[in-house]
Amino acid sequence: MSSDHFLAIEAGGTKIWLAAFSASGAELERVRVDTGEASATLAILKKQIREMAGSWGEPRAVGLASFGPLDLDERSEEFGSLIGTPNPGWSGVSFVGAIREITPAPMGVQTDVNAAALAEGAVGACRGVDNFAYVTVGTGIGVGIVVHGTLLGGIHHTEVGHMRVSRAEGDRFEGSCPFHKDCLEGMASGRSMEMRWGQKAETLPSDHDAWRIEADYLAQLCLTLNYTIRVERIVLGGGVMNQPQLLPKVRQRFHEMCNNYAMGAATDVGAFLVEPGVTETTPGLYGAYLLAKKALA
Ligand code: ADP
Ligand code: ZN
Repeated sequence: MSSDHFLAIEAGGTKIWLAAFSASGAELERVRVDTGEASATLAILKKQIREMAGSWGEPRAVGLASFGPLDLDERSEEFGSLIGTPNPGWSGVSFVGAIREITPAPMGVQTDVNAAALAEGAVGACRGVDNFAYVTVGTGIGVGIVVHGTLLGGIHHTEVGHMRVSRAEGDRFEGSCPFHKDCLEGMASGRSMEMRWGQKAETLPSDHDAWRIEADYLAQLCLTLNYTIRVERIVLGGGVMNQPQLLPKVRQRFHEMCNNYAMGAATDVGAFLVEPGVTETTPGLYGAYLLAKKALA
């Protein structure tokens, strides 16, 4: 059996995508695994990886783009493990270790948002842009930042999703983050929307006040990225951004908050705050494919 393909894994708080990619980056097959309790989920994931190898052969390399926080220090004994994550039951779990048990293929690892940022820079909405951020508004909120063409991070990957925010007018929700309560993720993630409104974000009507509140928090994030990193573009992705009324509201609120101060690239807000450009597959999966290719090289 030919084995000219790469295995890409994108792990989020709600679901894990597993995909076979051709050497040229076309998605060949994709399988979804729901993110449940860690050991049961990993068992299903391993079974699916084996089944995929049955169809496509052993992968040449594997790319893993996972929710965090992840230990990405290759000298660490905990390399590839999750550290104190808000996803219940996953702290200390090693994705890398689980995948290593079933395939010896070279593996590249990054956070889901950093991988998605790499994808948007390579083939998506930030091609040719040196300074940008990719934001996912999903079960949690993550931000991958590229500065002068390189992923930003100090001793660890960034954790901008947990920045502090000012309360949106009229919002009395206490916040869902188990560590900080009312940080950005605690107030604006899909999980927080479900807790605040007692129903999943995708079931809220498009004219619900939830979207004004959501746009306020995301605009605060974009303002911070504009003023700190001086990015040229911000890509907003993730499940919650599937609501078409949300991005225009974020643009409008961002514009009001900045109040024409030091707009930089944000002067043209429509070109500054954009949807993902990777649409044939997900930015996270394409990023995982890029990680796999790099691991092989
Ligand atoms: P993950 O966090 O696993 O990467 P997603 O990015 O799809 O997955 O985020 C899941 C979150 O997004 C859930 O909280 C869900 O309620 C929300 N969500 C999914 N689809 C939509 C939609 N069409 N509109 C609004 N919210 C959505
Ligand atoms: Zn937090």
